[in-house]
This record gives sequence, structure tokens and C-alpha cells, in this order.
Amino acid sequence: MKTRARILDGKAVAREVRAEVKVRAGRLRERGIVPKLGIVLAGGFAPSQIYVRSKERACARAGIEVEVARFPDETTFEELRDRIQEWNQDKALHGMIVQLPLPGGIDSSKVLDLVKPGKDVDGLTSMNLGKLVAGRPEFMPATPAGIIELLVRSRVGISGRRVVVVGRSELVGKPLANILLLRGDRGDATVTVCHSKTRDLAEVCRSADILVVAAGRARLVDGDMVKPGAVVIDVGINRTEQGLVGDVDFDSVAAKASAITPVPGGVGPMTVAMLLVNTVKAAENQASGE
Ligand code: NAD
Repeated sequence: MKTRARILDGKAVAREVRAEVKVRAGRLRERGIVPKLGIVLAGGFAPSQIYVRSKERACARAGIEVEVARFPDETTFEELRDRIQEWNQDKALHGMIVQLPLPGGIDSSKVLDLVKPGKDVDGLTSMNLGKLVAGRPEFMPATPAGIIELLVRSRVGISGRRVVVVGRSELVGKPLANILLLRGDRGDATVTVCHSKTRDLAEVCRSADILVVAAGRARLVDGDMVKPGAVVIDVGINRTEQGLVGDVDFDSVAAKASAITPVPGGVGPMTVAMLLVNTVKAAENQASGE
């Protein structure tokens, strides 16, 4: 009888990463530097409130101070710009993120690009995304960085493997594909990126040694779309009548894959952990005058 896939426990790995961040934050505090993150939270979108609360909690536990700037649904580009510019100048604040999505009508890429690249701990400014594509990453977006960290710490080899990424968003798919192409052990993959116009998604997915699904479509990928023994990373978070589900049909895929991430408890906790890593790194850089 076939044994079921190994569970890639993002919660446990994230705990490990957070403990390391806490040590680094403690070293900064001993030098009189309290690492601090600013979060711009605009509008009342319920999931964003939950994500921001969990980021606040994780920061507090790791010894990182947080300030949340809340704006109503009817906020304007100018109000957000003023706060970001104020934080860009604030020497006591080392990193900032803009929680997405922004209320309708506000161009999020214009807002993101106001963040000083050295404080862009979500790695989503054009400057930091461009540096990643150029092979000189500075801050890498937290979700893709978390996926790589989870694979590496779970001892899943990436170099030389065929990786299929489903989804080409600026937030997940596109930066992930570029991280996987970087030279070195954490990259060196052969990468295929699929999206809503991809023909015969199932066949492309079946070619993957490592399949990452970030499409935002509940149970888009089932066991028939997975090569036996593949490693499957489910990024999706979909709220359905049956509760929170991923983009992967867990049961049919777990029967075929060699390893799989659960939802929740897979990529989500890694995303938060990598935000902490980036924030403490920003504080270290600024402390050493970079
Ligand atoms: P997005 O909507 O911006 O992008 C979705 C991508 O999937 C698009 O490129 C689209 O072309 C592709 N796609 C959609 N339907 C498809 C289909 N049928 N076949 C092939 N490709 C298809 O979403 P996003 O921001 O990248 O997020 C993706 C999912 O990941 C969402 O469920 C989101 O909630 C989740 N997410 C989770 C975390 C986390 O920390 N776990 C972080 C970010 C996003």
C-alpha cells in the first residue's frame, strides 16, 4: 500500500525561523536599537484585519515593535503617501508594508513605489522586484521567500529540479519564479509559469518535480494533475462554505505526492516569519549605516 505524503509543516518551520529572528532582534536591542515595523492598513477588508493582527502578534513575540496606521475605506492616495513619506524619514522605523488589497480606486503599485527600497520589507517596490530579476535581490517578497525557506529546511532539493508555478501575480508567482531561477542551491531550478491562459494545465502540472499552486481557485489541482512522488506546495487561501481550503485538493494529491503543505499551517505561517526576517535585516542594515 502506498504511504501518504509527508506533511511539510510550515507552522513548525516558521517557529524555528521566528526563534532565530528573536535572537537577532535581541542583539539589536542590546545595542539600543529596537527593530520596528510600520503597517499601512487601509479599509475594512476583513481578511486583511486578520493578517495584520497575526503579523502584529508575531512581531511582538519576536521583539519587533509594530505601528499600524489605519485608514478608512474612503481614504485617498495622498493620505497614504503622506504617512509613507513620514515613515521613510523616521530613523526609528526600519521597515514598512502596505497591506493589500487597497480600497478600490487607489493604484497599489503607485503606493508601493513610495516606500524607500531599504525599508521595503515586503520586497514589492519596482526597485526590489527589479533587483530580484537582475539576480541581485535585496528584500524578497515574503510569500515566495517563505516557500523557498520551507523547501530548504524540509530538505527538498531545488537545484536542477523541474518546478511548475501556477499563477503569475506580482505578489507570489512572478517573484517566486525569479527566485527559483537565481543561481545557487536555493535556485537553479528549471521553471515553468502557468496562468489563466495556459493550455492543458493538467499536462504541464504533471511534468513538475515540485508543483507550487498560487491561483486563488479552490481545489484547482487534483491528484490526476500530479506526478507520483512530486512535492506540492499549496499557496491558496480560499474561504468556502466548507471553511478555509487551498488551491489543491488535499486528499487526492496527498495520495500521490511525496510531500505536501497543508492549508492552513503550510505557506501562511512562513509568510509571516519571512516578514520578520526582512524587518530584522532592514534594522541590521540601517544600524550598520547601509
Ligand atoms: P492573484 O489573483 O493576484 O493571481 C492569481 C494567478 O493565478 C493569476 O496569475 C492567474 O492567471 C492565475 N490563475 C487563476 N486561475 C487560474 C487557472 N484556472 N489556471 C491557471 N492559472 C490561473 O492571486 P495571488 O495574490 O497570487 O494569490 C494566489 C492565492 O494565494 C490566493 O488564494 C491568495 O489568497 C493566496 N495567498 C496566500 C498567501 C499565504 O501567505 N499563504 C500569500 C499571498 C497569497
